[in-house]
Amino acid sequence: MGEKPELPEERSLRSVLHPKTAEAIARHLELETVGQLLEYFPRRYLPRGELTRFADLTLGQDVSIISRILSVSTRRLHTRRGSIAEVTVTDQLAPEGTQAGRVDGGFGGRLDGLAASGMVPSDSPAPGNVMTLSFFNAWTASKDLAAGDHVMFSGMVNEFRGQLTLTNPHYAVLTDTGQAGAPGDEPDPSVAPLPVYPATAKYTTDRIAASVAVVLDTVDLRQCTDPVPEDLRTRHRLMTAPQAYEAIHRPRDEEEPHKALRYFRYREALVLQTVLARRAAVLDAQRTSPYPARPGGVREVFDTNLPFRLTDGQRRVGEEIAADISRESPMNRLLQGDVGSGKTLVALRAMLQVVDAGGQSAMLAPTEVLATQHFRSILDTLGPLAEDVGVVVLTSSTSAGAKRQALLDIASGAAGIVIGTHALLGDNVSFASLGLVVVDEQHRFGVRQRHSLAGSDGEPVHRLVMTATPIPRSVAMTVFGDLAVSVLDELPAGRQEVSTHVVSLADHPAWEGRLWQRAREEVDAGRQVFVVVPTIGDDAPTSAATGGYDAPDSPLQSVEGLNRKLASLPALAGTRLATLHGRMDGAEKAEVMNRMAAGKVDILVATTVIEVGVDIPNASLMIIMDADRLGISTLHQLRGRIGRGGLEGTCLLVTEQNSDGPSMPRLQAVASTRNGFELSTLDLEQRREGDILGDSQSGHRSALKNLSVLRHAKIIEQARSDARALVERDPDLIEAPDLLRAVREAGDQANTEYLYRG
Ligand code: ADP
Ligand code: MG
Repeated sequence: MGEKPELPEERSLRSVLHPKTAEAIARHLELETVGQLLEYFPRRYLPRGELTRFADLTLGQDVSIISRILSVSTRRLHTRRGSIAEVTVTDQLAPEGTQAGRVDGGFGGRLDGLAASGMVPSDSPAPGNVMTLSFFNAWTASKDLAAGDHVMFSGMVNEFRGQLTLTNPHYAVLTDTGQAGAPGDEPDPSVAPLPVYPATAKYTTDRIAASVAVVLDTVDLRQCTDPVPEDLRTRHRLMTAPQAYEAIHRPRDEEEPHKALRYFRYREALVLQTVLARRAAVLDAQRTSPYPARPGGVREVFDTNLPFRLTDGQRRVGEEIAADISRESPMNRLLQGDVGSGKTLVALRAMLQVVDAGGQSAMLAPTEVLATQHFRSILDTLGPLAEDVGVVVLTSSTSAGAKRQALLDIASGAAGIVIGTHALLGDNVSFASLGLVVVDEQHRFGVRQRHSLAGSDGEPVHRLVMTATPIPRSVAMTVFGDLAVSVLDELPAGRQEVSTHVVSLADHPAWEGRLWQRAREEVDAGRQVFVVVPTIGDDAPTSAATGGYDAPDSPLQSVEGLNRKLASLPALAGTRLATLHGRMDGAEKAEVMNRMAAGKVDILVATTVIEVGVDIPNASLMIIMDADRLGISTLHQLRGRIGRGGLEGTCLLVTEQNSDGPSMPRLQAVASTRNGFELSTLDLEQRREGDILGDSQSGHRSALKNLSVLRHAKIIEQARSDARALVERDPDLIEAPDLLRAVREAGDQANTEYLYRG
């Protein structure tokens, strides 16, 4: 044997269970080790109660019964849509006068009225031992249940046509023996809930329970790793790991699984927050150049000349950032603020402070369109100061000559502010003294590139990540756990209303014509219109990379198709149309956006590429076709493109769904509020947890198994402060070796990239 004693959770199931059983578990459930089986939790619990014989059932009683299925049939309902499954069961677990398992029983002697009437199939137990259960989820029930199965049902006894019955009871299919759950004798069967595992037809829940019982009874779990240090466990009144395993798999009462889950959730939160706390500690220990504000510098001049007042939020966050970048420890700050809350201005003021102190700043945008846009708007905002600062843009569509000059200015330090896409961080770009990197993430959660940013000579830089999606605090602490978070929670004064309406073409086909008249009216009033469509061309669906929706169903859903249609509409005769989508090259896109910005385009038909940051103050109407194909935050982002100048905006969410359609609640939600925070919480709730953490495409098992970053915010906050304190006291986790081990497994192995995947 090896030098280290083997940890109990690492033992192979083959060494504990009967080899055949271990093999079956490996095959059906893909579990190989003791730890994996112990981490395979019941999906729910059935209240066991006394196992009641049918003869003793009374109306209104909550019961659990173990029964054998005689027949399963489905029939269509007359009164409403759908069908119903009727399952006839008996509490005589073996067919009378037959061997267990023989289902086509004889008619031997007991053929009575019920059986003759066809209500009771072949093996005819006494009428008092037969009951018919009804399931409205007919499909599921008839898939799960079959004649001959032993099944535990639990539910409330009610009456139908004079017969006692259970309607839609919970159930767990058992193996032939009819033994429910672990055969162990410890839990008091009259109160102990029965665990129901995610099982397969081949490997039933009670067989899993039996194997878990063997593991619990034969493996010494006191030796297993328990990442929750004792002091924290006592302080939060948590179970130990072995107690929690026992309680989750073999609860003695209904409370125990909850207590166990409290332990497991806290454990997950603690491990994760410790990973992040250690990373934050590493960042804290780094040193970089400070860029203190310079009295009389460009930033002061800029502030004095500002044509408007900073919002309170901009002022407060501005001070936080100004203080951060005046220090030697690199700033790592997340700035979140709704679309139009003025984040770019906050970033610009920080960049000016860096310039004042002799450094350079880089601003990274997710797309070239947006980089170009930032460049133009920063030039505008700076006015004559731009000369002193030196502002350059660098994208793949920058001409060779301009590019050479830009690279020279960046290398010499003449360029104080450099704007580009992430390509800016390519090797051939060398900064004289890069001090601050601003990453405009817009609505993305992913911060993939964030850690790859280093200044000249590998010196760390100050970092500001901006996101337009207001993220609930618990999510921010998890996804951006090593960042300080600032929030801009008000919009600048004078921001115009955008009224949003859902337009159901299924309910009102005639409204389609009205849409284009509406666009015409807007154009006649001298304003501009965005029309957003799912796909680019008639044939090619947009890829995820261009931010499109799914495959096209009709030409009206593509940029090219709709553009052709609009061009032929009498209502729009004489209007100037243009198209924009992700497959156009950078120069083409920039050219279209420039024309739009200059008011030379009336109606821009585009894919969701315009979602991010495009600023056309004169645009007052946005028509989003097939809005039901887009998520809440995308719709909200798109809508943020209008109502930006002095004009009130209108956003029309067009859908082919009728008012009962599955996406209607989402569209109505977007129409009903402009509060980005509300919407993003809603959005997150509708997504799978893994998607929030960007885990969906990774092969990793989610790091968060029992913890929900939305529902368990309290636990996460607690774990965060515990982890910070712990890491401060004991950075190398010498006193918490089990936690260190878990942290290494969770964090170091994947470099917590699973948290950052966009
Ligand atoms: P965000 O990047 O958060 O979406 P921007 O920084 O692009 O928002 O700001 C949107 C618009 O509001 C810009 O035209 C900007 O000049 C303007 N703006 C920013 N701050 C203020 C303010 N305090 N008062 C008035 N307008 C502002
Ligand atoms: Mg912006």
